[in-house]
Amino acid sequence: MIRPKKNISSWAKQQQAKWFEFARLIKFRDTHGDFAQCISCGKPVKYGTSNCHAGHFIKATFTAIKYDERNVNMQCYHCNMHLESNHVGYTIGMLKKYGQKVVDQLKMSMHNSVERDESLDRIMTQKYKADYEELKQMYQPKFRL
Ligand SMILES: [Zn+2]
Repeated sequence: MIRPKKNISSWAKQQQAKWFEFARLIKFRDTHGDFAQCISCGKPVKYGTSNCHAGHFIKATFTAIKYDERNVNMQCYHCNMHLESNHVGYTIGMLKKYGQKVVDQLKMSMHNSVERDESLDRIMTQKYKADYEELKQMYQPKFRL
């Protein structure tokens, strides 16, 4: 069990909030009906379960593309956590979904430097949240009484 750190800095809290909103958006984007397909192995992933991960193609340690929406896609728990993203399968999935040009663009920009900008982080967190809410409105059935 992972316990939340007690003395976490406000910057770290902001990063957690940003990742939460971004990952939620990506998982919802990649889900059709109740299921998504793992980009690495192709198996179905039920939305909203612990099997449902937003996994990076190029590792999140490359901060320039950590939040690039093409670099993060729905993955199953097994590929993301046990197979270290299942990179061979992920590459095949990336080529099918985006094509070679996007894969090349991500690889070229992965080493770019990024300045820490807390106000931009707050704006992006709100943007990811708003984008998620908008997608949810578009794709959830509306019930009428
Ligand atoms: Zn998988």
